[in-house]
Amino acid sequence: MEVKKSCAWGIGKESGVGLLIAGPCSAETPEQVLSSCRGAVENGAHILRAGIWKPRTRPGSFQGYGREALPWLKEAGKELGRPIAVEVANAKHVEEALEAGVDILWIGARSTANPFTVQEIADALKGVDVPVLIKNPVNPDIELWQGAVERIYRAGIHRIALIFRGFSVYNPGIYRNAPMWHIPIEFRRRHPEFEILCDPSHIGGKRELLLPIAQKAIDLEFDGFMIETHCCPEEALSDAPQQVTAGGLGDLLQRLVRRKATSVDPDFLANVEALRYDIDRLDQDLIEHLAKRMEVAEEIGRYKKHGGVTILQQERWSGVFRERMKMALAAGLSEEFVREFMQVVHNEAIRRQMQVMNEKQD
Ligand code: PEP
Ligand code: MN
Repeated sequence: MEVKKSCAWGIGKESGVGLLIAGPCSAETPEQVLSSCRGAVENGAHILRAGIWKPRTRPGSFQGYGREALPWLKEAGKELGRPIAVEVANAKHVEEALEAGVDILWIGARSTANPFTVQEIADALKGVDVPVLIKNPVNPDIELWQGAVERIYRAGIHRIALIFRGFSVYNPGIYRNAPMWHIPIEFRRRHPEFEILCDPSHIGGKRELLLPIAQKAIDLEFDGFMIETHCCPEEALSDAPQQVTAGGLGDLLQRLVRRKATSVDPDFLANVEALRYDIDRLDQDLIEHLAKRMEVAEEIGRYKKHGGVTILQQERWSGVFRERMKMALAAGLSEEFVREFMQVVHNEAIRRQMQVMNEKQD
């Protein structure tokens, strides 16, 4: 897709951490919006955010003030000389936001997960030239994310950037939304033309987690951040535990360690080059071994077929899993890695044996 990066949107990026979008989770009062946004700008925000229509999980929570709050953010943007961004979740939001002079729209995680909603927004955007930010869907489905991007792109919008805000899973551990970093990394592999910002606020759900998440995003070469900031976070009507004050934002940005994408130091280059050569050879061995393992699994599948034996023998699999885990832990591999790896290998072996079982006999 031929998208225009944010540097071509006429927005400055002098902060060193890439594009910075900041502002409160929700617009609560004109004063709260202005004061929160002022703090954001003083700490380098290029774009100001505030939720106008809030998608809340449970009824009865604060749903945002809607249309009435649009001028509050518009005024803050004018006063502080920054473009403003709001979340839109249907055609009416798009119409009202554009009418109020909103500069940038974003599609929230719950909307991205619903193709009907995304299409409705895309249709409302036909013939409009406005930048659109697209958050990942709540569920870890890269196709759904890509599908949403394609719908907006096909509506003629070419100023698009992505926002990674983690995934809603049953057990997200210490996070509010599990950061499955491999998904944005895979998106970038497929479509390097898109900038991806990280939203550590919604990933972490707690102020203390913002720094480690943002540092990881820097180390993974994300293109910037969307961070929720509030003049008085404890009193926020939504997402109070994750919002930071202006001081908190400044402190966070200052503590981030910026590393270079590469180095021209000849020692560094020579050492890394030699190690990469090893990695390339090891990967080749790994692939050859995996292919051999699958051929053996297929062979066993043939015996199972002729013997009328089921594919999965739970006891054998439990034993294999236990033994491999012991070996791998002794070799210094992590339990989580080995569990996932063995499950993927086993699933593939089952798939290959199923193929053998279903082959027509001639
Ligand atoms: C938000 O940015 O305020 C928001 C609702 O985020 P998400 O769509 O990521 O949940
Ligand atoms: Mn929020």
